[in-house]
Amino acid sequence: MRLSVVAKEKEKAAKSPKKKLPVRERQKRRCSIASTVGILADPWAFLVLREAFFGSKRFEEYRSGLEITRATLSDRLRRLVHEGILRESPYSDTSSRVEYKLTKAGIDLYPIFMSLMQFGDRWFETSKSGPLQLIHETCNCVSKPIVTCSCCKQRFSARDVTYIDGPGAGRIAAETPWPSRRTPDDFMRGRPSSVSRAIEVIGDRWSFLILREAFYGNSRFDQLQAELGIATNILTDRLARLIDRGVFRKKLYQDAPERYEYILTPMGTDLHGSLMMIMAWGDRWRSQGRPPMLLRHDACGQVFTPVVVCNRCGKAIDAFSMKYRMRYNPDQYGGRKSSRAVPGRI
Ligand SMILES: [Zn+2]
Ligand SMILES: [Zn+2]
Repeated sequence: MRLSVVAKEKEKAAKSPKKKLPVRERQKRRCSIASTVGILADPWAFLVLREAFFGSKRFEEYRSGLEITRATLSDRLRRLVHEGILRESPYSDTSSRVEYKLTKAGIDLYPIFMSLMQFGDRWFETSKSGPLQLIHETCNCVSKPIVTCSCCKQRFSARDVTYIDGPGAGRIAAETPWPSRRTPDDFMRGRPSSVSRAIEVIGDRWSFLILREAFYGNSRFDQLQAELGIATNILTDRLARLIDRGVFRKKLYQDAPERYEYILTPMGTDLHGSLMMIMAWGDRWRSQGRPPMLLRHDACGQVFTPVVVCNRCGKAIDAFSMKYRMRYNPDQYGGRKSSRAVPGRI
């Protein structure tokens, strides 16, 4: 695993050993992951999207599925419309009321949800299947989607991906800092969901970015702080939480004073595919055709895009080809009870 930008910085630091890596308080890495996690790491925006993938369109459908206040729901619907994830569509020609439907960019988030669901099922489900069984209509099989390389169609791991600067590489001025408030319990509202469990384990936007840096090979506190420009207390808090949830483990690398590295556990490493899917979505919809980073699959030697495919037929998964079998009683929960992600083409 290599990252050219980081490698250059480390080289520079090695030449002047007294100089510490600078804390980039005003700059951050241009990154398609960062631009996407703003949507996924907000519990309410995430839950609204999840319900959209169960066929919810109307205000009351979203509200009853999530027991969310009207003001919060209005705010998140407005934001998701602003972000180009949902679009407003009148009930009918004569009605002034609107439904909130997924846009193409919104529907394209579906493979990310699929990969996170599989992660949730792998690590938190003791039964054979999670809350939802997926039926891939293309092959009519029970499917457990996997993340693969678009070139060789094989699975890839964090170890056999090389990160290369893309046309949009560089740093940009940091935006207003994100609010540090986090309410991970909120992710668990409504119906049982392995996607919710996966997102809940990661926690918040900072945690997504800490995880990203870990995949780029930054494992020490000062490296993480330098890359993210994150306040010491917030970084300490998020690392403690990620260790508690089993994503990282601490490893002593220096005795006096005691210094630790934060190493990904097998469970943490397993989040790589989902994170790369999140990056690919940001590249498609947020980078204006200039992805900040390219991925090379060492096994096949090609620059690739991660793709979620059906483990049975190998075809790419999309929201139109998947049906659900719920392994819980949907009548116990509000929201739509659709057995399809997106009923029909939009
Ligand atoms: Zn490959
Ligand atoms: Zn299939």
